[in-house]
Amino acid sequence: MRTKTALPGKAPRIAPLVAAAVLALSACTAVSGGGTPDPSAAPAPSASDGSDATADERGSGAGDEATESTGPLAGTTVVIDPGHNGGNADASEEISELVEAGHGRKACDTVGAETADGYSEHAFNWDVSKRLRDSLEDEGAEVVLTREDNEGVGPCITERAAIGNEAGADAAISVHADGGPSSGRGFHIIRPGELDGYTDDIAEPSRRLALDVRSAFEEGTGQQRADYIAEDGLDARTDLGGLNLSDVPKVFLEAGNMSNSADAADLADPEWRQKAAESVAEGIGRFLREGEEKEG
Ligand SMILES: [Zn+2]
Repeated sequence: MRTKTALPGKAPRIAPLVAAAVLALSACTAVSGGGTPDPSAAPAPSASDGSDATADERGSGAGDEATESTGPLAGTTVVIDPGHNGGNADASEEISELVEAGHGRKACDTVGAETADGYSEHAFNWDVSKRLRDSLEDEGAEVVLTREDNEGVGPCITERAAIGNEAGADAAISVHADGGPSSGRGFHIIRPGELDGYTDDIAEPSRRLALDVRSAFEEGTGQQRADYIAEDGLDARTDLGGLNLSDVPKVFLEAGNMSNSADAADLADPEWRQKAAESVAEGIGRFLREGEEKEG
């Protein structure tokens, strides 16, 4: 299943800086300029001391990785990619650098969306990702995050994909919330469309991952499928470097529309985010257990 085809064009290449206006066709609508400081984004997540509010009763987070994991997901590795980053807005030159995204060049990273009240997507992504990590670890999975806090810049989409590949992840998910038209509601899952030499090896398992996450997410959160984008809550895209460059099954979650006031109220609610994280963990778990049955 984990065939690593080292395609020549597939290595992430950092292109020289191009200062021209970057057409940031990202998964989420980029918030351009302005740089509204996000007061809600600053509960100062301390990177590695495990003291964040979401770490249930898991005990010490002090890097005791020698502990044998048990649980239904023991032996699996999941990479979680919290989209964007808290420092991106102040680093427009750095994140505007063009990188080879598998289907043309894209910006290294983007700022992301935010609600009308200024709750930023990067803070949402980071919070849900930590909760998701905790849920998956409770089930015994090994979890790798593509960034270690919400204060930095990037990494580039190429690096986000590479982290999943290097970890040999059994599944990878990029956590986002969209910035669509304010009238539009709902969540959707983006999966890699077929792109020869890039996603042909992961398109099918990624489709299954997308279906599992979609069903678990709507069951667990009650969130409706997006009514303004995608179809039945699913979208196949070939323009996202984070998917094109992945060699492991991967999807993007767009958990809701930050521009819609009803969705925004959910997204900004910690209890809703906990449900969202647990639902995604359930969906990933279903996918991983299916894979086991097939191999076994
Ligand atoms: Zn996003």
